[in-house]
Order: sequence, then C-alpha cells, then structure tokens
Amino acid sequence: MRRLVPALPALAALALVLLSGMPSPAASAVLMALVVATTVIAVRGIARNDHDHLRTIGNLLDALREGDLGVRSAARGGDWTFLSERFNALAEHLHDERRAQQENLQLLANSLAALDGAVFAFDSGRRVRWMNPAGEALLGRSADQWLGRHAGEVGLASLFELPSGTIQAQVFDGAPGRWQIKHAALRSRSQSGWLLVLQPMERELREEEAQAFRRVLRVLSHEINNSMAPIASMADTLGRLLPDADSALDASLRDDIRGGLTLIEQRSQSLQRFLGGYARLARLPAPRISPFPLRPLCERVQRLMDAALVLEIEEGLWLRADMEQTEQVLINLVRNALEAGGAAPVRLCARAEAGRCHMEIIDEGAGLPSSDSLFVPFFTTKPSGSGIGLVLSRQIIEAQDGSLMLRPGAGGRGAVAEAILPLHDPGQTPSP
Ligand code: ADP
Repeated sequence: MRRLVPALPALAALALVLLSGMPSPAASAVLMALVVATTVIAVRGIARNDHDHLRTIGNLLDALREGDLGVRSAARGGDWTFLSERFNALAEHLHDERRAQQENLQLLANSLAALDGAVFAFDSGRRVRWMNPAGEALLGRSADQWLGRHAGEVGLASLFELPSGTIQAQVFDGAPGRWQIKHAALRSRSQSGWLLVLQPMERELREEEAQAFRRVLRVLSHEINNSMAPIASMADTLGRLLPDADSALDASLRDDIRGGLTLIEQRSQSLQRFLGGYARLARLPAPRISPFPLRPLCERVQRLMDAALVLEIEEGLWLRADMEQTEQVLINLVRNALEAGGAAPVRLCARAEAGRCHMEIIDEGAGLPSSDSLFVPFFTTKPSGSGIGLVLSRQIIEAQDGSLMLRPGAGGRGAVAEAILPLHDPGQTPSP
C-alpha cells in the first residue's frame, strides 16, 4: 500500500480529467506541475522514512555486535514490521543463549570452587590467568596477587615438565604433601593456554598405606600370638614340673632352668602385650561423633599427665568429634612434647578459626628429628618408643574429618603439633 502513495497525485489528476473533461492548456500545466511536485514530495518522504528505519536497524545491529542484547526494533509499517519482528526474535534468541551461557559458566565456577583440587589456568606465555580457591589456599595468597605472574615465579613451572598424571611429593606454602599433577593444553578460537590441576593425594595414599599396614599387622599378630601363647604356657608348665630343692638335680642347674623358663614366659608375655599395642592400630574403632566442650577434656588431660601443662583454651569451644579418641590424641601429643624435654612448660592452646578448632601442643624441647618419617608406623627416635603414637593420632583425627601435622616451633625452638577438628555449631550447643 505504501508503495502506491507516490502514484496517488497522478491518479487523482487522471480521475479529475476523466470526470470533468480535458482542462485548458494553462490549467493542464498547473495540474501537471502540482502532480509532479506532490509526487516528488511523496517519494522523498518515503525514501526518508526508509532511510531512518535502515539507520535505526543498522544502529541496533551495532548494539547487538557490541553485546547489548536488550535492544529491540520498534519500526512498523509494511516490510518494516516484518523486519522488526525478525530482528527482535534474533535479539531475544541471543539474549537467551547468553543467559544459558552465563548460567553454565556460573555452574562451572561453582564446581571448580568446590573442588578440593587446585586448578590453575595459564595463557600461552605460561602467565597465571585464573585459579580456584583451592589454588589460592595452596599458594597461600589471593588470586589477584598472582594474576599475570609467570608459572616460574609462582613455583609451578617445573610441574609442566612432569608427565601428566604423575604423583609427586611437593611442598607448597610450607606444607608438604603428595599431589597428582595433571596438565593439558587449552585451545579456544581466539586464545590458547594451559590448564594445571593438582589433586591432593596425601589422604588417599595414607589410607591405602594404612590399610596395607593393617593387613600385614593382622597376619603378623595372628601368627606371633599363635606361637607365643603355647610358648608362655609351656614355660609355665615346665617350671611347675621342675623337681623341688631336695631332688637329686643339681641346685644351680635347677635355678638356671627355672630362671630360663621364667625369662621365656616373661618375654613371650611382654611380646604379646607389645603386639596388642600395635594391633590397636589395626582395630581402631569407627569414631562416635558427638558435641562436647573442649575445656573439661583438656583439664582431664592436664590431670592425667600429672605434669606442668599450661592450658590456653578459648572460651566456649565445643567440638564435634569422638571425645575418647580425641583425648587419646591429646595424651599422645602432650606426652611427646613432654618427652622432648625443655625447661619451658608445654602449652596446650585451642582457638576457633573458620569453623574449625585449631589445637596446638607447643613445646620448647629438642625439636623434631630431620626425617620425613614422623608419621610412618614404628618410626621412633626414643630407646623405648613404639613409633605408633603419631600415626595412630593422625588416623584418629583424619577419621573425624580433621588434620594433624607437626612443625618446628617459632624461631626453630621445640615443636608444634597442630590438630584441627570440626567445631560444633554454637547455635546448636546444648547447655553444659
Ligand atoms: P614414640 O613417641 O613412641 O617415639 P610417636 O609416633 O609418638 O612414637 O613419635 C615418633 C617420633 O616423632 C618420636 O620418636 C620423635 O622422634 C618424634 N616426635 C614426636 N613428637 C615430637 C616432639 N614434640 N618433639 C620432638 N620430636 C617429636
């Protein structure tokens, strides 16, 4: 219909001529001039309108290209209505796609943030572009302090040299651990880079080692106990069968035999007790988790140890843990601290931090031996040590979703054993 508008003056003039007859030459000239003028005006008006609509659509397309997906076309009339509808449908579609993409990205970011593995993204020049919270925790600083730094400055460059999937012991921010290291090249249309993932393996590997250790221990205890029990009882029986003093047997020979039999009996009994201690490791019961206040527990340990133990316990701390097993751990750690010597009293400190209870047993004794084996079963530097205190304590703590580590004390004096356990939510604390 719009296209007919420029023809309307000519059609009107034609109708006039047909209805009222041919006008005079002068009137015809005026009519002609009128028809030409109105036709030109109509054509220019339509052209200007089209031009305005085209510019508007062009501007809207520019806005889309620059990412403003909220724009819509309001052009109406003939083909413009059709074009506007198509344009608006396209903008709507792009808008929906962007929203879906943002939701996916958010989901991905949340999943990466929840991972306990550290994830790092590097650009093609191996400069840090992104890391998840586990990555920040691993490096001990927030991401913005590392962004743009080279992998070498961050201490991660050497990990790219290892075959992907390698399990390696590594110290990050002073904390040693074993990690599975995976890396892969990243390629997108416009960029390339590297992805590095460090999955903590310490706990899994320790659990596997502990299980292997428990299996060996079960077999050994079974075999040794089976032999020891008859040896002890046989020695006892033989001792009782020995003829008494007024028999013909030489007195000193009889005393030698009796002494030997007593020794066999004592040693086999003590070996059985000794094995019984190790078997505790293999038979550690599952923790019975419940809320309890920490201070009374620490005071009990203080009384039990009967030694100068200073308590520095934050007020109102409640743990969600197995009370008896936690007490066992504190006893082990305090005993180690006391056995390390040192003039200063041992301190047992506890504080809340980020929903966890940090308990530190601090001594100023001889300091830790230079060994990676502190938590290896049977490792001991003491003449009568058993070497199971630390490994048992760590097993107990980790079974309660906690962690245990030992480090040199401040200024290199003595040692600090730090056990971290979940705090009980104060909102649910039953009154003591
Ligand atoms: P044990 O006490 O029977 O030796 P543990 O497993 O408790 O067994 O300890 C293993 C070793 O760790 C100890 O022999 C000692 O060398 C070291 N250790 C543990 N705690 C301390 C400490 N507070 N200071 C110095 N060394 C320690």
